[in-house]
Amino acid sequence: MAKSGKVHLVGAGPGDPGLLTVRGAELLDVADVVVYDYLANPELLDRCRPDAEIIYVGKKAAAHTFTQDQINALLVEKGLSGKSVVRLKGGDPFVFGRGGEECEALREAGVDFEVVPGITAAIAAPAYAGIPVTHRDLNSSFTLITGHEKEEDYKDEQARARGAASGSSDVDWSVLAKLPCVAFYMGVKALPRICSSLIDHGADPAMPAATIRWGTRPEQRTVVGTLADLPRKVIEAKLAAPAITIVGRVVELRQTMNWFETRPLFGQTIAVTRTRQQASDLSKELRQLGARVIEAPTIELAPPTDWTDADDALRRAGEYDWVLFTSVNGVSFARRRLRELNLDARVFGKAGIAVIGSATREAVERELALRVDLCPPAFVAEALAEALIDLGQASGRKFLLLRAEIARPILCEKLRDSGAVEVRDVAMYQTVSAKQLPAALLATLESGELDWVTFTSSSTAKNFAQLLGDDYRRRLMNVKLASIGPVTTATLKELGLDPTVQAETFNIPGLVQAMRDTGPSCS
Ligand code: SAH
Repeated sequence: MAKSGKVHLVGAGPGDPGLLTVRGAELLDVADVVVYDYLANPELLDRCRPDAEIIYVGKKAAAHTFTQDQINALLVEKGLSGKSVVRLKGGDPFVFGRGGEECEALREAGVDFEVVPGITAAIAAPAYAGIPVTHRDLNSSFTLITGHEKEEDYKDEQARARGAASGSSDVDWSVLAKLPCVAFYMGVKALPRICSSLIDHGADPAMPAATIRWGTRPEQRTVVGTLADLPRKVIEAKLAAPAITIVGRVVELRQTMNWFETRPLFGQTIAVTRTRQQASDLSKELRQLGARVIEAPTIELAPPTDWTDADDALRRAGEYDWVLFTSVNGVSFARRRLRELNLDARVFGKAGIAVIGSATREAVERELALRVDLCPPAFVAEALAEALIDLGQASGRKFLLLRAEIARPILCEKLRDSGAVEVRDVAMYQTVSAKQLPAALLATLESGELDWVTFTSSSTAKNFAQLLGDDYRRRLMNVKLASIGPVTTATLKELGLDPTVQAETFNIPGLVQAMRDTGPSCS
């Protein structure tokens, strides 16, 4: 008998990828098929296996790409074929998410399913806008309503035939008008009608209300008003779907509880131009500070064209007085290769370990479980050479450098000039340039939304300019540029670009700090 699959209805949460549940993450990590829609943050798909089949069934402009029947059929088909399927839905699968209908279809077809609840927009978006949905002094109930614009947006023929509730028309406004706190899903266009109906049925026109768009995402925008003036304010602010509206006195608490929108880099759009492998640390930190990050890998890392030299060097690493690592990538590739050769950190024997930069130090400690003997305070090659010379560790010594194929020769030269007997420079990886910049980045650049571009090396700077094309200077005219250190700054200047800031400490935290210090006022 064929192996039967299972369909997991997983709540993706409201947008912030950190709000996915642990169970949801576990399932996404191993899924064979992922079926996701418009409100599920596509960043979550980065977790999936590279060979997972990813199917988008969300909205394409105004029209549905897939009807609900087609989605149900797809889930049944994938489930019956023995696959582990994740049906990833924005927020919670059962809160106005049609998860119930999908379960019915799966049950009817005999396909096993599991439901993983998610954090729904009505709770999360207000929370990120500084609005608690209940408060002991203000409300003891909280109601979720769908205020969809048109019946047919939500209910198809079949559902109507079943006599299913047909949306806002079945709402009893005189009851709603008495409730202390109500969240309306899907109601941006319908907002004027929602607010006037509440007022007509006795709600206080001065009742505080807020509309939150893209809650919990870096693009979050909040408009606050009263039942009487919120519709006008929302139109003036050009707030469109997806947005949720919360009506109740708890909205007033935003004055003291607004925490997310006050983060230092909130509202800033920042391009991170590192390699794909490296991007995550910087991106994570910037996101933590509220920025919207667009990763623009300009270079990719690849193993050396030929491993012969590197393999020999790794096997004999213990014969050197010092082994030098100049980047996190050098460490990662060394570790990978050691594994492939069925070797481990014992190859380094009694060699001293010296590194450039605190991140490289951490990588050596974490990935190779080696203690670092030397890490000079200035994170440049010159400083490492000088530190070794100052310690009397250059003359008569043997050095092994494990680093990138293209690297500045200064470190080797300085050591040789200071009497080193051997300086063996071995490439652990090479960089190859990316073919093009991501469409999302180009779009923000065109629309003037891009606030910053970060540069963490000379090669990213050169490649980024090249990928932008001949008129890169004009295109970057209104964008702030952040450089990680003097070498990268020099390259930017050679390219005719003037960095807005340069990190004081030449590492990722230093770079982030420099951008924080600039603040939004300079944009
Ligand atoms: N199952 C989802 C809701 C689906 S209905 C959940 O539990 O959240 C779609 C509506 O949800 C949108 O029109 C909007 O009103 C609301 N919504 C979903 N995500 C949102 C977000 N991040 N910010 C604001 N509203 C959101």
